[in-house]
Amino acid sequence: MARTDQSQFKCPICGYSGLFADHSVGANIKRKYAFCPRCGAAERHRLQSKVLDVILPEFAATSKSALHFAPETFFVNALKGSFGSYKTSDLFRNDTDIRADICDLPLPDASVDFVYASHVLEHVPDDRRAIAEIYRILRPGGIAILPVPIYSTGNRSSDHTVEYGRPRKEEEGHVRAPGLDYFDRYLEVFEDVRIYCSEEFPVIPNDNQLYIRAPSGGPDVIYDLLPDYVPVCRKSDAS
Ligand SMILES: [Zn+2]
Repeated sequence: MARTDQSQFKCPICGYSGLFADHSVGANIKRKYAFCPRCGAAERHRLQSKVLDVILPEFAATSKSALHFAPETFFVNALKGSFGSYKTSDLFRNDTDIRADICDLPLPDASVDFVYASHVLEHVPDDRRAIAEIYRILRPGGIAILPVPIYSTGNRSSDHTVEYGRPRKEEEGHVRAPGLDYFDRYLEVFEDVRIYCSEEFPVIPNDNQLYIRAPSGGPDVIYDLLPDYVPVCRKSDAS
């Protein structure tokens, strides 16, 4: 039987302190301590928030522009307040500024300084075209933050990307399970890619819970601490 443990955490996004909610499907816990109960942020969002804290102070400016795909509500204000121009985009949603296909953006070359698209590319069949398109619209020296789920339910080992060839309904429409080698696709296009990882942040009492805590699959209920990753891709100043 699972022990009831009362670990407490802090949410770096909304400031909540206390118990976090598990991600469960039926009676099965898929990810322990996944969600902040106040703002709904998951592990990946909390790690991304820590990375934004590092990136934005030195990069963002009122003279710069940001484009946010599939915008998470809890990141909107931070990004909007950090850039002079801030626009949202999505292929399906009606509540964004630009309804567009990430593979064919209605934006000029070198017109945006900062692109944020978290957990988008695993839904895009021609993701290399999307990556090239993001590079195209970035100004020289621009940044794209492009996280994908490395530890998904279908790809627990996570070293190698598995292409499904079609959207998998049971995996929220993902067309692939990205592995750690997925980030090589960014290096094919961008001059510099820095991968931030949960392991850069210590696991201590009342921390921000930046790991995916997945059941180990053995007879006892043990949760493995799986790191998440935030790739930050830079277009060279000389491009
Ligand atoms: Zn929160």
